[in-house]
Amino acid sequence: MRVRIDGERCQGHGRCYSLAPEVFGADDDGFGTVLADPVPTDCSQAAVLAERNCPEGAVSVED
Ligand code: SF4
Repeated sequence: MRVRIDGERCQGHGRCYSLAPEVFGADDDGFGTVLADPVPTDCSQAAVLAERNCPEGAVSVED
């Protein structure tokens, strides 16, 4: 699974790195960053959860 964050959309709400801290982190301003791409298999459900919960639709995942 591959994952990315659209930096144009991200507003730094932090749900991605709260829900999937193994996959996403935060930069110095609280905007989401990708830590694990490709996503480890045991983190794929968390990555999908983050995609669904990003209020800006900035997270995308694909198999
Ligand atoms: S949940 Fe969405 S808006 Fe919030 S930090 Fe993550 S990518 Fe950015």
